[in-house]
Amino acid sequence: MTSSPVSLSMPTVPRRRRTPEDVAAAAGVVGEKRVLLAAPRGYCAGVDRAVIAVEKALEHYGPPVYVRKQIVHNRHVVETLEERGAIFVDETDEVPEGSLVVFSAHGVSPAVVRSAEERGLRTIDATCPLVTKVHREAVRFAKGDYEILLIGHVGHEEVEGTFGEAPDHTQIVNSPEEADTIEVRDPDRLIWLSQTTLSVDETMETVRRLRERFPNLQDPPSDDICYATSNRQAAIKKIAPQADLVIVVGSANSSNSVRLVEVALEYGAKEAHRVDFANEVDESWFEGVATIGVTSGASVPEVLVQDVLRLAADYGYAAVEEVVTAEEDILFSLPKELRATLKEAGDGSRGLGGRGQRPMS
Ligand code: SF4
Repeated sequence: MTSSPVSLSMPTVPRRRRTPEDVAAAAGVVGEKRVLLAAPRGYCAGVDRAVIAVEKALEHYGPPVYVRKQIVHNRHVVETLEERGAIFVDETDEVPEGSLVVFSAHGVSPAVVRSAEERGLRTIDATCPLVTKVHREAVRFAKGDYEILLIGHVGHEEVEGTFGEAPDHTQIVNSPEEADTIEVRDPDRLIWLSQTTLSVDETMETVRRLRERFPNLQDPPSDDICYATSNRQAAIKKIAPQADLVIVVGSANSSNSVRLVEVALEYGAKEAHRVDFANEVDESWFEGVATIGVTSGASVPEVLVQDVLRLAADYGYAAVEEVVTAEEDILFSLPKELRATLKEAGDGSRGLGGRGQRPMS
């Protein structure tokens, strides 16, 4: 008797994508499903101002309006402005001579300003006033012959801009560990400044380690980490210990959004993820989850958070409780180059930026 190999192939049944009800049933959730929504979250005054600056430039001067770097670090914002006629470039030498270019909210070094002047570019400076404040500090302390230890991430646009104000007097401290090894010229003429969007706790740890080695290290005249960064971190710190899952809406290159994920995990969230859009949320994240914390970085339009809340509701997390840890009412005037144009055009409707939570759809 001979036998031939028998193929026992099973019929292929296309796998049905699980519905929200399936996930909910399989989740084994202990406790009532709910969302704790952080407030403040989303747009800060500096981001709102910068986005309005590009919108107003498009409206009053017409496209194309060039923007050096991403106006703010958010994919949705950048793509939406591109659709309206903004062209994002990496450097001013990509901008045709005589054209209009907007400098992003993260600020630019004096070398960039000079390069734009040399090319005869018309400029609108949308640098956040709180970044400009740090630039001024750098200039002032360099003039006083201080050495500046700039705590921040190497390669981040804001750090490049601040460093460029006083390159001969500045060293970048990229992490707490670097504080243990950095060498300084004169430990008695030393000040630290920082990027505006860092983790408050990590920065204080870096300062602590620096001061251990350099007791005469001076503090900045006022906090460099901005109100928006601190407030968003404070809100997620309150939510994180209760959260099985934290979803942070924000882009991968958004420093303050990435920090929110880290802070959530440090303060007890069992899991934390960053997404640009609701469709990046993985349904497996909901398994076994009763409480979801939701927040968003300072460059994120509220509409993207609402998309995540709608998705969460589809999975049974319809109860949303806002956890308010601060009220924000900061407004910044639009860049001066625009104000005159708006006045001439009788456009008084949006003379100010920074109203926060402004939807951008
Ligand atoms: S995060 Fe802070 S420094 Fe950055 S744009 Fe917003 S307010 Fe300005």
